Amino acid sequence: MPEQESATRRRPATRRRPPKDRPRDRGLTASASVDDARANANSQAETDSPLLAAVLAAARSHTFGAIEVPVTIARALEKMGYVTPTEVQARAIPPLREGKDLIGQAQTGTGKTAAFGIPIVEKIDPTAGFVQALVLTPTRELCVQVSDEVAAIGQLRNVRVVAIYGGASMDRQITALKRGAQVVVGTPGRVLDLIRRGELRLDRVHTVILDEADRMLDMGFIVDVETILSRCPRQRQTALFSATMPYAILRICDRFMDRDAQQISVRPEHKTVETVRQLVYFVAEQDKVAALLELTREFSFDRLLVFRHTQIGVDRLAATLKRRGKNVAALHGGLSQRERDRTLADFKSGRIEYLVATNVASRGLDISDLPYVLNFDIPEDADTYVHRVGRTARAGKEGTAITFVGEWDLDAWEAIRDQVGAEVEEGALTLYGPA
Ligand code: AMP
Repeated sequence: MPEQESATRRRPATRRRPPKDRPRDRGLTASASVDDARANANSQAETDSPLLAAVLAAARSHTFGAIEVPVTIARALEKMGYVTPTEVQARAIPPLREGKDLIGQAQTGTGKTAAFGIPIVEKIDPTAGFVQALVLTPTRELCVQVSDEVAAIGQLRNVRVVAIYGGASMDRQITALKRGAQVVVGTPGRVLDLIRRGELRLDRVHTVILDEADRMLDMGFIVDVETILSRCPRQRQTALFSATMPYAILRICDRFMDRDAQQISVRPEHKTVETVRQLVYFVAEQDKVAALLELTREFSFDRLLVFRHTQIGVDRLAATLKRRGKNVAALHGGLSQRERDRTLADFKSGRIEYLVATNVASRGLDISDLPYVLNFDIPEDADTYVHRVGRTARAGKEGTAITFVGEWDLDAWEAIRDQVGAEVEEGALTLYGPA
């Protein structure tokens, strides 16, 4: 019975892998400290001997909270504004650095990207021009976002990261691989495609991360993921992050990870949602546009992410808002990858104030400083609600999530509210007369 198996996590003894001899244990720490020494030596011009400066600098500790990190990484994190590790970082970084396999129950918004990004960057040999780490992500958007973050963490160690995803030029990705990318962040389909074309070799990969594994399962990528894993060296470190742990994911852990993998669980839902002011408006379907326009006056949104169910709904609402003089764009799976990337970049940079999107934008997207999210259509379930609401108030920032509940949505809304269990304020619209 699957449930029983998943609960006991039985594994055949034959799957036990041989003890690991991981590259990081073989001198990469030394490479990091030489790096550190160099970086610090540059800022130690007043010391007479560069060698002495280097030795002194290397001896000085650089910390990210309680975690010691090479100075190059410490500086990069500082530049990124990361001062204190988040819970998942504090709990995942130490075992990952020890070379342990890790199963992390954590969703986007917890800081999991840096939780695996920091150990990866630390372990990469920047002088070796072959792929050493592979991160698999379910969506193109998440792929770009994760590769940007790993590149940012590795910027002072000259770590070369390439994002490999479908819908974008394969030639450019192949060129980046040929130039000696050390970290590949990719979606399973394109990664497999490049492996089969002989353009991507994974035989010297020492770290594999499965990010948002449950999403990869939902999207039908699991067979691809298994094929890719079976192409990686057996002696490697594997970490899997997933918001939920369905049976199929536990099976992957069984088949492809160490029996003594470290398991951590970080539950951000409440945290994410608790820092968000949640407002609900009961509004008839036909009045929703008028209600939105009223709220634009009340809140004077400088940036607003609006969610709708369907692509047609997104296009229609975007067109309506445009006619009303709003600086708006639409984002959904019917657009080309290039259009999606451009729209997202424009919204992130503030060139676009209103973004109307389907669920494509609700998971995994990291848009920092997003103060407002509006569920124009009610989310399908509590999970989707939490993910959408999680677009705002990231990493401790404040945010407001507004939900429109139409005449057909009352039951669905009650179910969501009960499951999320958070406090929700009810707002009043002048549209329906004085409160
Ligand atoms: P993630 O779960 O990796 O998508 O990260 C969620 C958000 O938290 C992103 O906006 C990150 O830039 C931000 N973040 C991650 N770690 C930290 C940290 N230690 N301090 C501040 N912000 C962070």
